[in-house]
Amino acid sequence: MQTINPLEFFRTLPPKQCTECGTHIIEQAESYLLECDRCLSRRED
Ligand SMILES: [Zn+2]
Repeated sequence: MQTINPLEFFRTLPPKQCTECGTHIIEQAESYLLECDRCLSRRED
């Protein structure tokens, strides 16, 4: 049986992905965004 350390759990979380195209989103100030820059800008057209 394996005990999961909460700190270890958060460290191994997969990178955030764009909900539109699946591109990995680089964490930054706007990390609450669920879509990548490309999809966001395309949406504004
Ligand atoms: Zn995208």
